[in-house]
Amino acid sequence: MSLMQENEIKFYCPQNINELDQIIKTSKEKLTFVAGTTDLMALEHEWKKINNLVDLNCVKELSQKIEIQSDGILIGAAVPMSGIINHSLIKDKFTILVEALQQVGSEQIQNRATLGGNIINASPAGDSLPVLNVLNAQLWIGPQKNGEFEKIQVSEIMSGPDETTLKTNKYIAYVLFPFPEGENLFWYFRKVGQREALAISKLSLAVLGWFKNGKIENIRISAGAVTAQVKRAIKTESALINKELNEKLIDEARKSLEDEIAPITDIRSNVEYRKQICGELLRDALFQVKLEN
Ligand SMILES: Cc1cc2nc3c(=O)[nH]c(=O)nc-3n(C[C@H](O)[C@H](O)[C@H](O)COP(=O)(O)OP(=O)(O)OC[C@H]3O[C@@H](n4cnc5c(N)ncnc54)[C@H](O)[C@@H]3O)c2cc1C
Repeated sequence: MSLMQENEIKFYCPQNINELDQIIKTSKEKLTFVAGTTDLMALEHEWKKINNLVDLNCVKELSQKIEIQSDGILIGAAVPMSGIINHSLIKDKFTILVEALQQVGSEQIQNRATLGGNIINASPAGDSLPVLNVLNAQLWIGPQKNGEFEKIQVSEIMSGPDETTLKTNKYIAYVLFPFPEGENLFWYFRKVGQREALAISKLSLAVLGWFKNGKIENIRISAGAVTAQVKRAIKTESALINKELNEKLIDEARKSLEDEIAPITDIRSNVEYRKQICGELLRDALFQVKLEN
């Protein structure tokens, strides 16, 4: 197969996970896994370095499987985002994920783009990342050893801008979203971009929490596109837990998040804007909780 370049690319289309793992085990060269290609096709310089392409779309378990398990929902890393957005149980139980994926690119992009690609692309502006963080998503990494995937938390794979800890010839097979336990759950997701569709995020905020008797029992907060690496705002989370949710606390949390996120200036936005708007979004999220309870 030859694509936009002189070097020949070996193309693999494994029909199932065992075949995929066998290709990996017998290969002495670097393999490039590909799913929706929405990122990879745009990176022309990367193609010069690709010699072996493995199309994860061929592996039906990875490109089609959405399975309800006792503890959560397991989604193939190569399932197109539109398949996730239109799944009735995901819409119902993980509305925050659907809201975030609906804001990735446009419908055309969502018809091809995958969670695996969004994670490995590791862009600070990757829209799924803050939501994967607050949902405590677990990644199943292949190839399998003794019939088992390695399991890691999503926070363990992100190591920097455009960088992950995933080793050569390893791939993300599945993403497991544990059902959030307990009652009185609240969630919030906002993306701030230049326009509604086809806009790379200036910043985003994902919040998931539990509210009871006037207090936040637990909360997870993750901002996107503000720093080089998408992380949880642990300090701000701790400042909110088990305290009465009033205007004073909400304002303290806003200030705490502004300090904690330590944003960067880049072509899409600057430090001041990111700090202020991120804080305001948290304020908005917490006021909604207060008003609704
Ligand atoms: C016009 C346009 C608009 C966009 N808008 C947005 C947006 O608003 N928000 C946003 O977050 N992103 C956006 N993107 C980026 C892109 O669509 C997403 O990052 C998407 O999720 C990538 O998924 P993919 O399956 O297409 O990845 P691919 O292009 O197939 O792969 C991306 C990278 O991940 C690797 N990879 C893919 N799957 C796996 C796997 N399972 N295991 C190991 N490695 C893997 C590939 O080798 C490659 O390095 C946009 C892209 C375009 C072209």
